[in-house]
Amino acid sequence: PELINQIAAGEVVERPASVLKELLENSLDAGCTRIEVEVEQGGVRLIRVRDDGGGIAREDLAAALSSHSTSKIASFDDLVHVASLGFRGEALPSIASVSRLTLTSRTAGEASGWRLAGDGRETPCVPEPAAHPPGTTVEVRDLFYNTPARRKFLKSERTEFAHLDEALRRIALARADVALTLSHNGRALLRLPAASERSGEERRIAELCGADFIAQALHLDQQAAGLRLRGWVGLPTASRAQADAQYFFVNGRAVRDRLVAHAVRQAYQDVLFHGRHPAFVLFLALDPALVDVNAHPAKHEVRFREARLVHDFLFRTLHEVLATTRP
Ligand code: ADP
Ligand code: MG
Repeated sequence: PELINQIAAGEVVERPASVLKELLENSLDAGCTRIEVEVEQGGVRLIRVRDDGGGIAREDLAAALSSHSTSKIASFDDLVHVASLGFRGEALPSIASVSRLTLTSRTAGEASGWRLAGDGRETPCVPEPAAHPPGTTVEVRDLFYNTPARRKFLKSERTEFAHLDEALRRIALARADVALTLSHNGRALLRLPAASERSGEERRIAELCGADFIAQALHLDQQAAGLRLRGWVGLPTASRAQADAQYFFVNGRAVRDRLVAHAVRQAYQDVLFHGRHPAFVLFLALDPALVDVNAHPAKHEVRFREARLVHDFLFRTLHEVLATTRP
């Protein structure tokens, strides 16, 4: 079973950043209000994510670390099929199979916490008591220590940290309502308080995308045909710092999508910003039945049922807002 988990891990755990993304999504799923992230050596040595969410009951800890579909895999065909489904219910077992993973948790109803520690060889199943406030801490140490071939593909500490940082930023932008902290090698790098109003959200965006960006960005919030687009679009500035701030979320998920990119680029080019990198933080909300966000979970691609409608709505809305800046 560990081999199967390791093969599965190849699909979802590409590098420390993919581990962090899965852990953060689990914390958010657990309804937390704050998340603390500590990493060491670009996340290769340590990724620790602590939340104040609902926690995992003692009797459910082992299940969280064991693969739900292992027993279903009887042949290679099955394996290929399972892999193609992506990683629902497989993230923790996959990560645990290629690292030293410790899961510590406490539900609101329990008097103390419980801990399960694995070493990537066998799935641990007997929790021991541990001091912990309500919520969950997942500690992932020595990523790929037991899969040298994967470890070889890791880049420098700096590069791996840049990927981690980007994964955290995406989630921090999408969930301004959750407080977040980040430290690397013991140095505190980000301390983002929870924000409920637009002004708080703008402070968070200023922190993550630069004060320049938010100072001159246009805010928009428009709806049509069951689609809602809100967020901020940047105007050209002398500063190059905002060139990387291109964030688009679909129903709260960060997305890199051809159709979206095309609509945004066209709107900018059409109005006034030839040859510039547009900067934007945009949130599209639509009926979940009209979009498949799991088309390529690791690649951040989506598939829209009404592609034409979405494209035209994005283009028209952005075009209209940007056009107001014309003299
Ligand atoms: P999935 O998120 O797709 O269910 P995972 O492997 O990521 O699969 O997690 C397995 C299970 O462990 C989750 O379904 C959840 O019940 C539990 N879990 C993981 N992380 C947390 C957390 N931070 N807080 C509460 N429960 C968690
Ligand atoms: Mg998960």
